[in-house]
Amino acid sequence: MARPRILVVGAGFAGVECIRRLERRLAPAEADIALVTPNSYQLYLPLLPQVASGVLTPQSVAVSLRRSSRYRTRIVPGGVIGVDTRAKACVVRKITGEIEEHAYDHLVLAPGSVTRTFDIPGLAEHARGMKTLAEAAYLRDHVISQLDLADAGEDEAERAARLCFVVVGGGYAGTETAACLQRLTHHAVKRYPRLDPREITWHLVDLAPKLMPELGDSLGRTALDVLRRRGIQVSLGVSVAKASATEITLTDGRILPSRTLIWTAGVAASPLIGTLDAETVRGRLVVTPEMTVPGADGVFALGDAAAVPDLAAGEEGAICPPTAQHALRQGRTLADNLIATLRRQPLRPYVHKDLGLVVDLGGTDAVSKPLGIPLRGLPAQAVARGYHWSALRTNVAKARVLTNWLLNATAGDDFVRTGIQHPEPPTLRRFEHTDAYLSADQVRARTAALRASGPGTAG
Ligand SMILES: Cc1cc2nc3c(=O)[nH]c(=O)nc-3n(C[C@H](O)[C@H](O)[C@H](O)COP(=O)(O)OP(=O)(O)OC[C@H]3O[C@@H](n4cnc5c(N)ncnc54)[C@H](O)[C@@H]3O)c2cc1C
Repeated sequence: MARPRILVVGAGFAGVECIRRLERRLAPAEADIALVTPNSYQLYLPLLPQVASGVLTPQSVAVSLRRSSRYRTRIVPGGVIGVDTRAKACVVRKITGEIEEHAYDHLVLAPGSVTRTFDIPGLAEHARGMKTLAEAAYLRDHVISQLDLADAGEDEAERAARLCFVVVGGGYAGTETAACLQRLTHHAVKRYPRLDPREITWHLVDLAPKLMPELGDSLGRTALDVLRRRGIQVSLGVSVAKASATEITLTDGRILPSRTLIWTAGVAASPLIGTLDAETVRGRLVVTPEMTVPGADGVFALGDAAAVPDLAAGEEGAICPPTAQHALRQGRTLADNLIATLRRQPLRPYVHKDLGLVVDLGGTDAVSKPLGIPLRGLPAQAVARGYHWSALRTNVAKARVLTNWLLNATAGDDFVRTGIQHPEPPTLRRFEHTDAYLSADQVRARTAALRASGPGTAG
């Protein structure tokens, strides 16, 4: 008999953890495993602000999928652009642009999330996110190029706009991004004798009344104090009304002349979920506590893309927050459930009690709440870095990150602009490929032949 085909979509925290467990616990004769992923690495997203600020090189957070000879998963380089659960097939656009169908017996959907945007005039054209390696590298070059251009320019107004940076989103991603990039400009400006450091302004704005409410009032206030002490202007209860290439208008009426709008106001499930014709909660795919998709035979989903019930929260209807902490552990439980399905054994629900949050504000500034214990400053920083370091998947990645941290702490940064800027930089949509997907009708048109010949018959 042919071996069952397991197809995993997405090589993030959830997908990779699931695959590694399947590889360890399933004999090769029990199933074929394939992974569709646009990149050949797992991105360690929580360290992305440190890539943008130059503390880490991009390579150090791109953890190889091929490092060990023990790995036997077939990697398909591309992205899934549609799923037909009746035909049991995914439509894949390979990195060459070719489109092909891949049949499965068991599908694991772990495509993560994209930056959440709103219908704000100018946002789609002028905002940049912090969700991919390309965006982090782009932002670093962009910020340094603003210093270079301000330094070379004679026009006072243009200079002020180039030195005004706006970050939207007071969650951990936005707060870390603002804090880390402000440190970058604070140190970099010493190499620009023509620039007055007081000319550089950083703004962090959020519609919510508090920064990182999940940290609690006291730690949230500490984070706010750290940012304000560094001169970052934090505006709460405020968002962006409109944006252009040269200025950002806030909802409180202020107009900030600026060439930099960094948008980190939350995440939305991958648009792939919309191609499924299945039930969603706030865009995330509805799944059972065992992470199966109701009504879709053989389909599992997890991570940021799925609304996995949070059984440990003790609240009716609670779903797990979109964090790496959950995605990783869901990957393990899902692999066990997939193996149980193959062996006709009972599945078990996902239960994990949140371990807390770590927020690295750069240098010795940090706040964290491991296991509910509030920490500030150096102890919080040690916990934050220790946690991320130990969660890196390979020893080589661990060595790279540690070496980078040591080098940065001792030798600092050279603030080199690598020149990846372009007169017409990619938009958020292009960076995160959010318009790559097919409509449900287009998916069905591609899989019609498969449905006619019986589910799961493509190559
Ligand atoms: C700046 C930042 C800081 C963060 N800090 C923390 C933190 O401190 N602690 C914490 O717990 N969480 C943190 N998070 C959140 C955490 O990174 C996510 O919750 C986690 O990555 C979700 O895991 P995932 O596997 O669902 O998705 P991801 O890790 O995003 O992986 C999704 C994968 O799917 C791939 N993919 C996407 N679409 C397709 C497709 N159509 N076909 C094939 N592949 C596809 C992507 O390329 C990616 O490799 C942070 C996030 C950001 C952006």
